[in-house]
Amino acid sequence: MLFYLIKIFGFFIIVAAIAIGVGELFQSSGFIRLSMFNFEFTMSPMIALLTFMAVLFVFWVLLKLFGFINAIFSFVSGDETAVSRFFYKNRERKGFEALADGMVALASGESKLAVTKAARAEKYLKRPELTNLITAQAAEALNDKPKAYEFYKKLLKDDRTRFVGVIGIMKQKLSEGDTDLALKLAERAFSLKPKHEKTQDFLLTLQAKKEDWSGARKTLSAKLKYGTLPRDVHRRRDAVLALSEAKSILAEGKNIEAREAAIEANRLSPDLIPAATMAARSYMEGGKVKNALRVIKKAWEVRPHPDLATVFLEVTEKEDHIYRIKSFKSLSRVQVNHNETKMFLAELYVSSEDFDAARLVINDLVQSVPTARLLTIRAAISKGEGADDELVRGLLNEALKASRGSQWVCENCSQVHVHWVSVCVNCFSLDTLSWQEMPTENNFNLPESVELFLESDDFDKGDIKIDVSLDQDLNKK
Ligand SMILES: [Zn+2]
Repeated sequence: MLFYLIKIFGFFIIVAAIAIGVGELFQSSGFIRLSMFNFEFTMSPMIALLTFMAVLFVFWVLLKLFGFINAIFSFVSGDETAVSRFFYKNRERKGFEALADGMVALASGESKLAVTKAARAEKYLKRPELTNLITAQAAEALNDKPKAYEFYKKLLKDDRTRFVGVIGIMKQKLSEGDTDLALKLAERAFSLKPKHEKTQDFLLTLQAKKEDWSGARKTLSAKLKYGTLPRDVHRRRDAVLALSEAKSILAEGKNIEAREAAIEANRLSPDLIPAATMAARSYMEGGKVKNALRVIKKAWEVRPHPDLATVFLEVTEKEDHIYRIKSFKSLSRVQVNHNETKMFLAELYVSSEDFDAARLVINDLVQSVPTARLLTIRAAISKGEGADDELVRGLLNEALKASRGSQWVCENCSQVHVHWVSVCVNCFSLDTLSWQEMPTENNFNLPESVELFLESDDFDKGDIKIDVSLDQDLNKK
């Protein structure tokens, strides 16, 4: 600001000085005498100034003329620069005009015009990194896949546009269903621009879809490193991926490695139910029952869940009913009032044939949350207490119409999953499943135990199955 003020002030001083100088020259009565060779000139100061300026002008014209003659001389002697530069400037102007028109056409959705303008710009400019970019995008907008592909490939040749080319071809391959190649291209794009968040996410989704768990964990680490993922979310997702890795290792038959991976997943995120169940089973296989119970307890404290209850039954399979109930009570102490705790305790009481205790536990639940599972337990209690088949059948019919209770639901697309998976089977999102209650109208899945029960011909024999997890217990009797 100050600098501008000084500039303006300086300008005024110069103008004033010139005005004063010219005024002085007009008013002065003296003469200037100039002698050169044998000539002598006498003139007023004003004429002298004008003459001086005229001489300067002639000198400037002569300089320009000399430059032009020099250029023509250079051209004649084989140097094209001077003259061709004139024509080049002209071509450059036309080229940039066409380029600007092409960009505007692309932005306004006139893709065909954009292609034409890009071709014209290329003719004048010879700047493929700019013109190919426009043509590729316009072809994409026109759904002209072969042309878009052709130009994406051209973009691969230049360092500056390679990334765009790779991404373009990757998306094409993905839409064609060639996920193997798409994954390779996503990896290439990631190596070109590891900080690019969309590429990170794209690669992660593809790796999860292709079940490349170790690769996905590396991408996830990169997201943490470049600050595109908060630390706590990273920890949770890493646990999800570690768990998926453990499952795939187990499928390959490498039990010991799978066991370690499951325990690692549980360490990363103790409240991740499927990791806890897998870790508990891993400890159990290694004979570490106490560790297995500790894992279940830790997860139950955060989120009581029927899958944890199932593992608890497996871990305590060799124990008697009294020990089981005592052990579960101490394990679930923190969540003693949780519905899940009460229902499972009731099931344990039913399997120990202590129907009074079972009824006491669920009594206040039947009114508030009449889920299918709860009503099935009630039917089992009635059956155990000696109610006739018709009454039990009525109770089970009620259970059929009741809410399914909580299920694994994708938070992204609301797809219901019978079992937990790390990647949604519908929208392929990673770690979007949560254990939540679905509205009654969406309850197309009946409890497995009820379905088995109704299909069973053994109904009249009183072979009641209250829950899949308890089937074995009841069948033993
Ligand atoms: Zn989904």
